[in-house]
Amino acid sequence: MGVRQTMRAVLMGPPSAGKGTQAARLGMEFGVPHISTGDMFRAAIAAGTELGRQARGFMEAGKLVPDEVTMGIVRERLGQGDARSGFVLDGFPRTVPQAEGLREILANQGVKLDVVVLIEVPEDELIRRATGRRICPECGRVYHVEWNPPPGHACACGVALVQRKDDSPETVKERLATYRTQTEPLRDYYSAEGSLAVVDGTGDPDEVHRRIVCALGRCSL
Ligand code: AMP
Repeated sequence: MGVRQTMRAVLMGPPSAGKGTQAARLGMEFGVPHISTGDMFRAAIAAGTELGRQARGFMEAGKLVPDEVTMGIVRERLGQGDARSGFVLDGFPRTVPQAEGLREILANQGVKLDVVVLIEVPEDELIRRATGRRICPECGRVYHVEWNPPPGHACACGVALVQRKDDSPETVKERLATYRTQTEPLRDYYSAEGSLAVVDGTGDPDEVHRRIVCALGRCSL
């Protein structure tokens, strides 16, 4: 048995492609931190910090938080000990300047990304996934009104479910437009550097997970 290789991966894709679910699972499986800029911003809003105050308006409008703010939190997070030996980034980078910033942070650490996985899902399905999503503000469980309905109107833990503010139909359309204009150019960026793997994000989440593990070059695990 060889020494386990570390993993430095990015999961990218449109909103509701399943990045969060898949990145959390990969992080657990490969023993590296799952780093989600969206989760970091939501936590900052919940905690009422200055960062949360800066991010809130952009998030609720379906727009991107400015690059300088986002780079600041990522630089700090990637400098922490647990991220030095690997990570799964989820929802970052989302712009070309962010990708360049990431490359520089890693170059300063003397390392590079292993792979960028782009999860593809058709637009009509993305809209159905996002607008039907309901989350538990207490335990974080995620439901879908059509495919994974909650028992009764509440979470299994008993707390009333909520819709993420940015999952309203208007904001979902805005988030998709933001993705097309600002994030999709990263497809060419990472493809040119030879690190892009495109994965079909439709169907059973276990099946999508297997496709991603293969895209990471760990099919045999
Ligand atoms: P997510 O949970 O990844 O869908 O992110 C939710 C929202 O947080 C996005 O719609 C943006 O407003 C903001 N956000 C998350 N990650 C980034 C990023 N890398 N750059 C700018 N804004 C971000």
